[in-house]
Amino acid sequence: MARLVMKFGGSSVADIAHIRNVARHVRREVDAGHAVAVVVSAMAGTTNQLVEWCREAAVLHDAREYDTVVSAGEQISSGLLAITLEAMGVNARSWQGWQLPILTSEAHGAARILDVNGAELTRRFAERGEVAVISGFQGLHQETNRITTLGRGGSDTSAVAVAAAIAADRCDIYTDVDGVYTTDPRVVPKAHRLDRISYEEMLEMASQGAKVLQTRSVELAMQKGVRVLVRSSFDPPDLGGKKDAEPAGGLGTLVCHEDEIVEQNVVSGIAYARDEAKVTLLKVADKPGVAAQVFCPLAEANINVDMIVQNVSEDGRFTDLTFTVQSADLDRALEVLRKAKDSIGYLDLRGSTDIAKVSAIGVGMRSHAGVAAQMFSALAEKGINIEAISTSEIKISVLIDAAYAELAVRTLHSLFGLDSR
Ligand code: ASP
Ligand code: MG
Repeated sequence: MARLVMKFGGSSVADIAHIRNVARHVRREVDAGHAVAVVVSAMAGTTNQLVEWCREAAVLHDAREYDTVVSAGEQISSGLLAITLEAMGVNARSWQGWQLPILTSEAHGAARILDVNGAELTRRFAERGEVAVISGFQGLHQETNRITTLGRGGSDTSAVAVAAAIAADRCDIYTDVDGVYTTDPRVVPKAHRLDRISYEEMLEMASQGAKVLQTRSVELAMQKGVRVLVRSSFDPPDLGGKKDAEPAGGLGTLVCHEDEIVEQNVVSGIAYARDEAKVTLLKVADKPGVAAQVFCPLAEANINVDMIVQNVSEDGRFTDLTFTVQSADLDRALEVLRKAKDSIGYLDLRGSTDIAKVSAIGVGMRSHAGVAAQMFSALAEKGINIEAISTSEIKISVLIDAAYAELAVRTLHSLFGLDSR
């Protein structure tokens, strides 16, 4: 017997027919003898509607009341799933975040989980074989006794936290895609589903990965060692219920520790992002303290800087400085730098959003030399100019003209042997 957390997103509980389908997935695992806690999101579209109503009521509203309202969607779906399970003869009850409780920080709208009490759940598994149907996304700030929410997409994080609290063998995230792909299949039709991906790679795959799992949930899974399986809720509900808890037939993508990955490619995936913007400062003085004068005011304005390139100055007096920020922050960044023009001292300031960041990601890079050289040569052959480069132990990112993003992704996908045969 294993202990499982099964999490279902909004599209998987969109209406009663979908909820019935979810209940069949749950019953399969219960019939296989597993102890099951289910975590649900709100029915598709519900949270957006609730957010909208808050705005309509008052553009500026109390974040505590916002949480009271937007957490309500999960209360509905958890109750409906418990009713449906009971009707199928599966012993189940619903739990709201405040009932367990799932304790969080006081940051309303973006609260962080501090503690989940799983004791009552495990007692009920043992004594009554009862399935716990838990509302995702919700928490409780104990000191103020107020309901909190974890931020959009937060029920993934609820699921991982519950899995850690009950020491689950696995946390299965059911969604509308059947796993994590080597790259976006809409860009590269030859992209294929990965059987396994390490936590670190998954975090780096953010450009497509974040659509599948909330980033915070991956960080938490890595920290707590929770194995996460991303799979589709549209698979037939009779697939994959086995006594030993590992699903049959290589379903989905397992996000796990890299030691669990036997066949490791050097590069596991190609990610791309179009939501960055480039800022260039021309003719900045090349002297100690200038970088601090540029980046401190940006940090104070809460603007995250990603890639940074500084040229060697020809005359030892002036240099050009280029860096990237999120597109949404570009205007603010330019404003901050304009204000700081006198203290920094530069000739001209430019911003552009016509750029894309393309990254090759793989833990195998740690033990392989020459990945960057291969990557740059392949891009050069296609006539793609690299404007900036950044690297980590497991990632090489290049900044290029946005018009070449898809060509670059396709080129690298095939270069690193990821095209499915
Ligand atoms: N219902 C919440 C949202 O739409 C939480 C979630 O789905 O994970 O963001
Ligand atoms: Mg989601």
